[in-house]
Amino acid sequence: MNDALKATLVAALKSWIESANDPASDFPIQNLPFGIFSDAINAQPRAGVAIGDWIVDLSVLEDARLIDGHGTFNATRLNDFIALGQQTWRDVRIALSALLAQGNATLRDDADLRRRALVPRKDATMHLPVEIPGYTDFYSSREHATNVGSMFRDPKNALLPNWSELPVGYNGRASSVVVSGTKVRRPNGQIKLPNDERPVFSACRKLDIELETGFIVGKGNALGEPIPCEDAEAHIFGMVLLNDWSARDIQQWEYVPLGPFNSKGFATTISPWIITLDALEPFRTATPAQEPQPLAYLRHEGDHAFDIELEVTLRPEGAQRATTISRTNFRLMYWSMAQQLAHHTVGGCNTRVGDLMGSGTISGPTPDSCGSLLESTWNGQRPIELEEGGERAFLLDGDEITLRGWCQGEGYRVGFGECAGEILPARG
Ligand code: CA
Repeated sequence: MNDALKATLVAALKSWIESANDPASDFPIQNLPFGIFSDAINAQPRAGVAIGDWIVDLSVLEDARLIDGHGTFNATRLNDFIALGQQTWRDVRIALSALLAQGNATLRDDADLRRRALVPRKDATMHLPVEIPGYTDFYSSREHATNVGSMFRDPKNALLPNWSELPVGYNGRASSVVVSGTKVRRPNGQIKLPNDERPVFSACRKLDIELETGFIVGKGNALGEPIPCEDAEAHIFGMVLLNDWSARDIQQWEYVPLGPFNSKGFATTISPWIITLDALEPFRTATPAQEPQPLAYLRHEGDHAFDIELEVTLRPEGAQRATTISRTNFRLMYWSMAQQLAHHTVGGCNTRVGDLMGSGTISGPTPDSCGSLLESTWNGQRPIELEEGGERAFLLDGDEITLRGWCQGEGYRVGFGECAGEILPARG
């Protein structure tokens, strides 16, 4: 890592934008995540970076020749910017860090430019940050795979023999990935009730969440050319929070032999801000020990997990307070993002800029650290009590689920913002 990049990550760095210096802000000057936004004054979606309570309009700064995005900022998605490559993302981030740092007067003291370049986040509408050519979902938490295997198959053989040899995954549905805030309709589908011979067609009765993160591919690979594990992180632009909504009753009937289909394909929600791997660098840490040692193509030296605190809250319709239903950490994931990408491409599968790769449900070892209601309520048998009374086994119409994530630094935190969605009733 070069000195200019290191300088953007210093814990003591402050911004002249005061709200960015609040230790509770998700968006201090050390973060600088990228997204696509619009506002009442300019309804055209365009690229921005979050800083404190504000969004920096990147196209305005480019017009003022303060940053260089090669004309890609005035776009409804970040794909063209991301395709410019890692050096350009870094150069833009380094330039922004300097412009926003305490003591830099260029933007701070230019009232006209400041008025045009800074948009209050509360007035902005966030859009899907990237066009997603493909969405893949992995299954890389040992605790989650063990819990689901116990419930859906057999507690004695919960973890299948392939699980500790390869990052299990499947090709998901990119077309139904939506941005945080989009309402999610309860799906209808085939459900097989235990005492009936044939399935019924019904609204899902076991609607669930999956707490995940996702990474966005920043540099693709050609068909037939695998990405080596050691190089894989250079192919990642950044990370988002991801809720892989799941219809458990539909899933349990349909998933044999090819895996989930309608139980997952109705919606996947992601957070709007993409946190770059550069911003996450200070929070790099070791993955859990891997036993047996993975095959050679899945090996990498050094630390490849990130210390990201995660939390899920549920707020019933009309409730004042939300209930925290899970707290866990991304660092518990058995397989790293690099190993997932290396495995995904090892047979020659190509990836493209903007591809979304879900981590798999992130569960810890205890019921309050499970990333799905399926696990925390043990398939509905042990409902969760809610703060304002009542309980939940699975989601009811009107429930709002919010995922949050952050890396805790010294006096600041690199946050992901929110990944939220409310449940609408099924179509009649
Ligand atoms: Ca999933």
